[in-house]
Amino acid sequence: MLILHCPHCDRMVDETDLHPGGEAHLKRHGPEADAEAFENYLFMRENPKGVHFERWRHVYGCGKWFLAARNTATLEVYGTYPAQTHQPPQTIRDTITERQPGWAWGDFR
Ligand SMILES: [Zn+2]
Repeated sequence: MLILHCPHCDRMVDETDLHPGGEAHLKRHGPEADAEAFENYLFMRENPKGVHFERWRHVYGCGKWFLAARNTATLEVYGTYPAQTHQPPQTIRDTITERQPGWAWGDFR
């Protein structure tokens, strides 16, 4: 079972109290974007076996959105952080790099 830390209410939360929101850090485009950029935003998603960044909502708790960095193969959670960030905090990126040598933020962007 997946257990994540909610960074807003500082509680460890079981996945039954959460609602998944899909991939995190998607680039949103305005109305001036071309059709390909808009299509990529709507339909194209990463599906890695390994490090992944996801959106979660603490639906049966504080109700707020947060982001989680975890490994889809091992279910190891590297950390969670508020959703109002454009990239993972440096501490989480350092943790991932330490446990997944060779990994770097931006490799899959
Ligand atoms: Zn919460």
